[in-house]
Amino acid sequence: MVVYKFGGASVADAQNIKNVAAIIKAYSSGPLVVVISAMGKTTNALEEILRATRNNENKSELVTQLRTCHEEILTNLYGSSKQNQQLSRLLDQLEENLVKFQDMPYDMAYDQVVSFGELISTTIISEYLNEIGITNELIDAREIIRTDDTYREGIIDWKTTEKHVKKTLADKNLVITQGFIGGTNDGLTTTLGREGSDFTAAILSFCLDAEYMAIWKDVPGILTADPRLFENVAKIDRLSYKEAIEMTYYGAKVIHPKTIKPIQNKNIPLWVKSFKHPEAEGTLISGEIELTYPPMIVVEPNQALIHISTKDFSFVGEEHLSKLFKKFNDHRVRINMMRNTAISFSVCTNDIKERIEHLIQDVQHEFNIVIDHGLELITLRHYTEDLITSLRKGKIVLFEERLRQTIQIVVKDVPDMIRKK
Ligand code: ADP
Ligand code: ASP
Ligand code: MG
Repeated sequence: MVVYKFGGASVADAQNIKNVAAIIKAYSSGPLVVVISAMGKTTNALEEILRATRNNENKSELVTQLRTCHEEILTNLYGSSKQNQQLSRLLDQLEENLVKFQDMPYDMAYDQVVSFGELISTTIISEYLNEIGITNELIDAREIIRTDDTYREGIIDWKTTEKHVKKTLADKNLVITQGFIGGTNDGLTTTLGREGSDFTAAILSFCLDAEYMAIWKDVPGILTADPRLFENVAKIDRLSYKEAIEMTYYGAKVIHPKTIKPIQNKNIPLWVKSFKHPEAEGTLISGEIELTYPPMIVVEPNQALIHISTKDFSFVGEEHLSKLFKKFNDHRVRINMMRNTAISFSVCTNDIKERIEHLIQDVQHEFNIVIDHGLELITLRHYTEDLITSLRKGKIVLFEERLRQTIQIVVKDVPDMIRKK
């Protein structure tokens, strides 16, 4: 069995979907599972629809836009104005869920609404492939990927998932299924976190002992830095699992960070390939290999530094730290970098307002807290001094940590008024 994953950009319009069909058609070596994300920016559009609904704003124009852009794709796929009953049925269900979950907790409602991006895209694509003779079966990922009820970040129940995946997919020839979504024991929908479709493909690869997994992207493979932020980036031909997990953990946006563990655990090779140039090699991520890597840069925007200090000048010792770690975990405030001094503990974290506020409420009776917002965390693997110097230009460094292979700096832009002319 082989597992392919196509992300939003690869199915953003009819022409891209035809390209995906050609890539699937060219594959002829045996059974294939294809995981597909929502089309283009549909997930963002659904988030917007949910936001409008919760704020009692008029959402009908946003739903119409969603309908129109999918109808346009259908028209361009089939070359005529095609009424699709499946699309109408799914959009009706979406509107029903907007009403049904209006007063439910936000994260729970989020998953019941935002999951429609993947449900719609896979329904359209599976039907199109069948129409053009690429016979496939559409499998609802909510029936096979079992999670707990941690909405927006479902925790996988591996045992049940493995059982369902093996039973449902093992004897199929070509399967289309959704990335990003799963289901609870109670039949509700969960999502696995933004960009989670890569993780879905890794879960299926693990459960099926896949021969290999391939994720098809709009880039030639893994590059030395995000091409949207840096010039002169180069493709890396091969990466070890260890290097890939470090890169993605630090925030490299090209692969979801949870993807690597399942495929490493079963020693499954992972190809990152270009859907624009499917014949090109891409990047191969695989087991332990001795490689020397070029410098690689990962930039994580939207960071906050939380400085926590004791009120009574007692040392921040193990007891305080274990209490604080528990609070960070309870409020799902992820620690990207940390340091302690005699009476303080500083943490760099993703700047998620509500979670940080809850954390503060929980610890402020015991600690003083100061927060810096609007920061960036830059991680450099296999760094050179010249590169560090150039990355620091125009930035104020608030926090820095060096290990043998990695340097991390938390920076903010130098305000224009004090920048040297
Ligand atoms: P998908 O369509 O599968 O969701 P994404 O858009 O999430 O794909 O990921 C691909 C994007 O990741 C690229 O367009 C690129 O801008 C960005 N990216 C960030 N860091 C890297 C990197 N180191 N190498 C390649 N691409 C990167
Ligand atoms: N559609 C989801 C998102 O945009 C999941 C994914 O694309 O991986 O986050
Ligand atoms: Mg993505």
